[in-house]
Amino acid sequence: MGDYIIRAVTSDGAVRASCAITTSLVNAAQEIHKTSPTATAALGRLLTACAIMSDMMKGDKDSLTLQVDGGGPIGKLIAVGDSNANVKGYVANPLVDLPLKNGKLDVGGAVGKDGTLGIIRDFGLKEPYMGHVKLCTGEIGDDIALYYARSEQIPSVVALGVLVDRDYSVKAAGGMILQVMPEATDEQITKLEAMVREMPAISTMLEEGQTPEDILAFALRDFASYTFETSETAYKCDCSRERIERAVKSLGKAEIQDIIDTQINAELTCHFCNQKYVVTKSELEEMLKEE
Ligand SMILES: [Zn+2]
Repeated sequence: MGDYIIRAVTSDGAVRASCAITTSLVNAAQEIHKTSPTATAALGRLLTACAIMSDMMKGDKDSLTLQVDGGGPIGKLIAVGDSNANVKGYVANPLVDLPLKNGKLDVGGAVGKDGTLGIIRDFGLKEPYMGHVKLCTGEIGDDIALYYARSEQIPSVVALGVLVDRDYSVKAAGGMILQVMPEATDEQITKLEAMVREMPAISTMLEEGQTPEDILAFALRDFASYTFETSETAYKCDCSRERIERAVKSLGKAEIQDIIDTQINAELTCHFCNQKYVVTKSELEEMLKEE
């Protein structure tokens, strides 16, 4: 079975939790962007969070964009997801790698923490909703938890993990987002805090063969019962020739004329999947004639 997400709610409504295995999709991102182990972990965590958060969206056409710009050596990271939990993303400097820190990939050092996490939710309305928080560690999980606490007033636990193998492939990746609803009692919150302290790293649990179902069972062990739904998630780019042509048109006529004057064709590469598109000179001239 490929990657999937399970989304659960406890029967008393106190906790909502989602858990995902994203090993294949983070592997796909690694292959597309040829990322270093540190960049794989950073982008993989962001893509995993994006998949889980996209899966929480309700409308068919909703989309979610996560942007991390921490001023560190790997530069800006972007992940975009749709309501079917298809995600895509990229990192500005995919080849930058850092030495291990305390035996772990130094995601915080690579991302930096002198910047922001931006979240754009597009519900197909006139204006998308935009929010942002200052980064706290650049480790991504902590930063998303802070975003939920500050911007949405939802106390959350965000655990994201990517384990990179010696050959740079992804051994295990996944994540969990657990949100405490106003219905939760103080006793339940105390128990959840104890659970979080005991919970091993999520990538370790997945590598050991535990499933998202097992991990949720561990996280929600103090609750009498919960229901859950399962959805697939994957790395999927939705670029197309039409989109690229729209993007070129949106440059405006002066800019298009400039391309015609200085280049033979316009060559564009999709940032998310590296697909190349060529818009020929005669196609550009056609665009100039259009209204
Ligand atoms: Zn693409």
